[in-house]
Amino acid sequence: MDIKNNILFFREETAAKNCRLIAVSKTQPVEKMKEAYDAGQRLFGENKVQEMVAKQDTLPKDIEWHMIGHLQTNKVKYIVPFVSLIHSIDTIKLLEEVDRQGRKNNRVVPCLLQVHIALEETKFGFDRRELLQGIDQTIFSPFSFVAIRGLMGMASLTEDREKIRSEFRELKNIFETLRQKPDAPNFEMKELSMGMSSDYTLALEEGSTLVRIGSAIFGERGVGAVGGAQKAGGGR
Ligand SMILES: *Cc1c(COP(=O)(O)O)cnc(C)c1O
Repeated sequence: MDIKNNILFFREETAAKNCRLIAVSKTQPVEKMKEAYDAGQRLFGENKVQEMVAKQDTLPKDIEWHMIGHLQTNKVKYIVPFVSLIHSIDTIKLLEEVDRQGRKNNRVVPCLLQVHIALEETKFGFDRRELLQGIDQTIFSPFSFVAIRGLMGMASLTEDREKIRSEFRELKNIFETLRQKPDAPNFEMKELSMGMSSDYTLALEEGSTLVRIGSAIFGERGVGAVGGAQKAGGGR
């Protein structure tokens, strides 16, 4: 994998669409992340708290850390002091805990609400009805140490491109609907996190502002991490 060229390639692709690139570095060793860093990459995505904390400790301090994986409430406290954006807020209970830890750290934590758009692949996230009712009932307002900045979603794992496109469209539609709602404090629809290695082109076409790309930058996960030969990842 030519990590540097991959970073440059995806940065160009995304910048052309006013979108930013998150390099998803989960399971990848810090050496590979340094290659991406040296190519100018500053936004990295991780899905495990322990791994993110360990890497944050070693790598340069100007990295923006994005939590993209399912987050357990008892682990929130470890990332709140430094995390740039939590993409995976999937319950009000989790939001409450982020708020509590934000208050302790005197830090307003930027968050995205995860939306369940795929048919079955993930059980995590809010649906359209919950979000629209939620905002009408101002259920997000009590949290003064979280800043809700947008939505995140994952499309179905399918070869059916039109299905994926329609799911991204649905997410964008919810995003726009919420954006029209009267401003609640700490609630502003700015970021739409959608698109991974296999479907980022569709996500860019449908209005993504943050794509989360892992294997197409670093290669298949697990192979390099244990020191074996690198298999070329897809995506380019
Ligand atoms: C792993 C992961 C990605 C990146 O997946 P790739 O297919 O390697 O690009 C994106 N988003 C989430 C939530 C992930 O867990």
